[in-house]
Amino acid sequence: MNNKNKISKAESTIEIKEPVYLTVVIPIYNEKQNISYLYDNLNNVLPGIGKKYEVILIDDGSTDGSFKELLKIHEQNKNYKIIRLRKNFGQTPAMSAGFDYANGEVIITLDADLQNDPEDIPALLEKINEGYDIVSGWRINRQDKAISRKLPSIIANWLIARLTGVKIHDYGCTLKAYTSDVAKNVDLYGEMHRYIPAVASWMGISVAEVPVHHHPRKFGKSKYGISRTVRVILDIITIKYLLSYSQKPIQIFGLIGLITGGIGIIITIYLIIMRLFFNMALSSRPLFTLSIFMIFIGVQLITMGILAELIMRTYHETSGKPTYAVRDIID
Ligand code: UDP
Ligand code: MG
Repeated sequence: MNNKNKISKAESTIEIKEPVYLTVVIPIYNEKQNISYLYDNLNNVLPGIGKKYEVILIDDGSTDGSFKELLKIHEQNKNYKIIRLRKNFGQTPAMSAGFDYANGEVIITLDADLQNDPEDIPALLEKINEGYDIVSGWRINRQDKAISRKLPSIIANWLIARLTGVKIHDYGCTLKAYTSDVAKNVDLYGEMHRYIPAVASWMGISVAEVPVHHHPRKFGKSKYGISRTVRVILDIITIKYLLSYSQKPIQIFGLIGLITGGIGIIITIYLIIMRLFFNMALSSRPLFTLSIFMIFIGVQLITMGILAELIMRTYHETSGKPTYAVRDIID
């Protein structure tokens, strides 16, 4: 491919670089033995798409000499760029770094451990060209441990699809394609890279799914185990909150606060009537303690909701982040 078009003017020559069409983002943490195969697999596919591409390899603080292997690839092929993080930040920050430095119109993420197959990239690109904002890989034949990995993820996928309305089967597949507009506008914290389709759904996106290959890990170890399950549950609660209430936190905290506080007040009124008109003692009644407790919790939740409202406003006003997302402007 000819990378540079030259436009000749009367005297001077302006060089215009062909814009990058595809950026492949790959987070890497201690994957030394996989790297040379990864390069070969990518190299079998990427030149064939016929457009300018780049591959951003993010070394997420590897300690096994992965970085040296990455340098070798960069020496051979300058389409491969390396970002080396100062320490192991985790897969989500590593992917976030890749998104920040990506130049492509389309961004594809995949794992470095050869479990995803670059052969699937053209199928993802085809769907993006049909106009979808995110195309997610679906590992129909997933090659991971059944109890510790596949079962929790089936439950998580079901839950998150129900809660967010973004119905895809396999959130956990890293092999996904995004338009750069979407990838660059989604804020990723914690381990949220798995739920980008759900997190990004606030801005109104279209999501497609494509069945992809999945291979067992041959070299190196998985970085995750069964302990991830608990964290996933907390992540799902966070996503649900962000999608439904982040713009109006008082609506959820305040509602629960009003209900508990309200019940507390009704019980108190009942107890006062019983005390004044029926001469029933208060001291021996657990209901009395409960009512005080519920009023307290109600007041706490309502104040928490007000605080969350203030924090949300401060966030949007100081960061200049709008509360809407624009698709097109026709002026
Ligand atoms: N990874 C990373 N930083 C981490 C953990 C993982 O960059 O802290 C990378 C890892 O090198 C791999 C990808 O993220 O390329 C997925 O990790 P892994 O294969 O361990 O996850 P699994 O496939 O078991 O879910
Ligand atoms: Mg893996």
